[in-house]
Parts: sequence; C-alpha cells; structure tokens
Amino acid sequence: MWVGTRRQFNGLIIGGIAMLMITKNFSVGEMKCHCGCGEDSMDMDFMDILQNIREDMNRPLKISSAVRCANHNMKVSSTGKNGPHVPRTDGTKAADIIIAGADALRFIDVARKHGIGGIGISQRGAHAKRFVHIDTLSADDGHPRPTVWTY
Ligand SMILES: [Zn+2]
Repeated sequence: MWVGTRRQFNGLIIGGIAMLMITKNFSVGEMKCHCGCGEDSMDMDFMDILQNIREDMNRPLKISSAVRCANHNMKVSSTGKNGPHVPRTDGTKAADIIIAGADALRFIDVARKHGIGGIGISQRGAHAKRFVHIDTLSADDGHPRPTVWTY
C-alpha cells in the first residue's frame, strides 16, 4: 500500500527520461490540465486513495482526464467553472479512468471499498473510450456525495 506524504514528489527514470511522479504509479504529466496552462495541482488525499485503488486492482489505470483549469472545464464540460475536475484549495479531487466491462465493474467495487463517493459511468461505444469517473468531493465543494451518474 502506498502511503504518500503531502506535496512529496518523486522522480522516476523511464527510458532515460525523468518523470515527475505524484505517487508510485501516477505522474504529474498524466494528471495535469490538457489545455497547456500548466495547472497540475492534485489533492494528495485523493492521490493516495487513487494509488491504493490501483494497487488493489493490480493493473495499470489509464487516466483520460484529471486536473482541468476552470477555463478548460468551461470548454469541455457542462459543469462550468466549479466542475468536479477543477482544483479546490488543495487541488483536484477527481479523475476519469479509461476502463470497460468486467474491469469497470471491479474498479467501481474497489473504488467504493476505498471510500469513493462520487462515481460517473460512461460505458457506451468503443471500449477504448469508455471510462469511469471517481471523485472525493463533498457538499462543501458544491458537489454533495455519495452519488452516481451516467454521461
Ligand atoms: Zn488549463
């Protein structure tokens, strides 16, 4: 089980390229905003849970979206400036994982076991695009939990 330290970042050398890691298996690069703004703040409590879920799953988890700055979220989501992926005081508490079928159902089971209270399910169309959203938001963030939704 990974036990992270707040704001402790670790380096990992893969193929001679240094990757800045947030936890053992998740890099800064895969979690940061896709718009190019450089926003990469992830909530460390969320990251510790995500790492523990990954270890229970015992397989890589492909991230399709984690941090989104408010501007980028306005463009790609109907949830606007306060959407689940937008960083809170301590960073973003949400991630979308590319996963489908039996693996997706197992992922939801494991995520629930680790206390995840926000689950969004997208399981239509090509398997390579199917995903499950998880977050640790709360009413204080404007997103009451527990809840589940589909896209
Ligand atoms: Zn951005």
